[in-house]
Amino acid sequence: MQFKKFQRRKYCRFCADHSAFIDYKDIKTLRNYLTERGKMIAGRMTGNCAKHQRELTTAIKRARNIALLPFVER
Ligand SMILES: [Zn+2]
Repeated sequence: MQFKKFQRRKYCRFCADHSAFIDYKDIKTLRNYLTERGKMIAGRMTGNCAKHQRELTTAIKRARNIALLPFVER
């Protein structure tokens, strides 16, 4: 399971590391927040703060719109 990678971080990755910013073209980073089926992983699983989780969601939606990431499989 992919969730094991996260180990319940208490801090937000993007708050802790200011050089890491959320870019919809940065598929490698976005992939970390998706399951292998393309579903978003909830903020409480990733340890992201609400603000950055929201930015991440926006970035993923944008990436999906330009087909960089797959849509959720049904
Ligand atoms: Zn944050």
